Amino acid sequence: MDIRIEGVSKIFEGTAALHPVDLAIPSGQLVALLGPSGSGKTTLLRLIAGLLPADEGRILFGGRDATRLSLRERRVGFVFQHYALFPHLTVFENVAFGLRCKPRRERPKEADIAAKVRELLELVQMIDYRERLPAQLSGGQKQRVALARAMAIGPTVLLLDEPFGALDAKVRVELRRWLRRIHEETGFTTVFVTHDQEEALELADRVVVMNRGRIEQDGEPEQVYAEPATPFVFDFLGRSNQIGGRVDGGGFRLGDDGAVLPAEAGAPGPATLFVRPHDISVVSTDEGVAATVTEVRRLAGRLILEAELAGQSRPVEVDLPSGDVAAPRRGERIGLALRRYQVFPGA
Ligand code: ATP
Repeated sequence: MDIRIEGVSKIFEGTAALHPVDLAIPSGQLVALLGPSGSGKTTLLRLIAGLLPADEGRILFGGRDATRLSLRERRVGFVFQHYALFPHLTVFENVAFGLRCKPRRERPKEADIAAKVRELLELVQMIDYRERLPAQLSGGQKQRVALARAMAIGPTVLLLDEPFGALDAKVRVELRRWLRRIHEETGFTTVFVTHDQEEALELADRVVVMNRGRIEQDGEPEQVYAEPATPFVFDFLGRSNQIGGRVDGGGFRLGDDGAVLPAEAGAPGPATLFVRPHDISVVSTDEGVAATVTEVRRLAGRLILEAELAGQSRPVEVDLPSGDVAAPRRGERIGLALRRYQVFPGA
């Protein structure tokens, strides 16, 4: 089911948690709402679910206005960060719950409920645990059951609020791969909230980056990572160096009188160049931007340099595969070649 969000906003106690946003989610996509704490991700997810009323705008499910429909009427499957399984029901009964609660005329026969629950428990690989109570499961297992329960109602869309947030790093990574596989098998339109860049980039077909109640960028993971639309997105999606300068004469001039690098020039004026540490290589001083090494560290097969550029207050971090070059020494003059970067207006 495709979802369209048109100018939807939410104000809490006079403060906008969500400024009017527009977003189109095509059917069958796995979409990440990514942003720092307080950026409005959960608010947007709850608005899509029908758990919160919108102050303005419309939400369309499959082209039909669903703005005033409840969670149940929208038929969304929802999974929260903290499991929220019924503690007194077995795994099997937890998954069967949604089916048993349907109005009588829609309620499947008991044999069909059992078959459906078995199928879902097989899918999430929890069939062997069907008689256990939630307290007898690990966090990752509980989340798998919660997902099976959300899928049981035959939802129009699955909404997951930091589904792996409470789990340790290793289990998170396993569950991510697993969710990707389940999504490929079932094809549910799925929207999940995360503040973890790696999780969003690895898992999603589409990443919606949020900041201060606004959508900063919305695109495929590769595109959002390679071509961040704003300084915020650049910085939020990975490590970044920021080098001050100006746009003039069709390029970016480092500092007041430094080298000029090619850049899609905007209006002349103060600008900042953003570059990731692994997009910089070390070259000879006459080939690259001149810099002085101030620190050399080795880190898990990488060589991390810090280098000062004339006229810049902050050193630039460079991340190299350690086998590539003889490690420069502290105090050495080197040249830096910037392979990929972006220039944004403003100091
Ligand atoms: P987190 O990652 O911390 O969950 P988030 O991006 O999901 O953050 P939201 O929970 O959507 O952010 O909150 C956005 C803003 O709205 C925050 O400033 C928050 O304090 C505020 N907010 C959210 N829910 C309420 C509420 N029920 N009443 C008042 N303010 C709220």
